[in-house]
Amino acid sequence: MEEALVLGCVWLAFLLVGILCGRERGRENLGALLGFLLGPLGWIIVMVMSDRRRKCPECGGVVEEGVRRCRHCGSPLTAPPDPNRDARNRDMLEQLRNMPPPGR
Ligand SMILES: [Zn+2]
Repeated sequence: MEEALVLGCVWLAFLLVGILCGRERGRENLGALLGFLLGPLGWIIVMVMSDRRRKCPECGGVVEEGVRRCRHCGSPLTAPPDPNRDARNRDMLEQLRNMPPPGR
């Protein structure tokens, strides 16, 4: 009975540290999941992932997704341009065009 309690505490610690590791990369949910499933290995996996958070171009501070102003220096933020988006859309359209019509 006591062992189950200890195991539960250890598991909870894995989960919480996973959230903390994930927060460093803007991936709290994934960090929680990997920490819960894999323990310390999950923390490492999250820590080596790319940082998903945005950085202010003016001061380099971390800002949340979707905000219009940096909370550190107050400079306005614009959405980062995605040069691949147009190319991706073109590729998708091309694939749709090349698909055989249904029912033949
Ligand atoms: Zn800033």
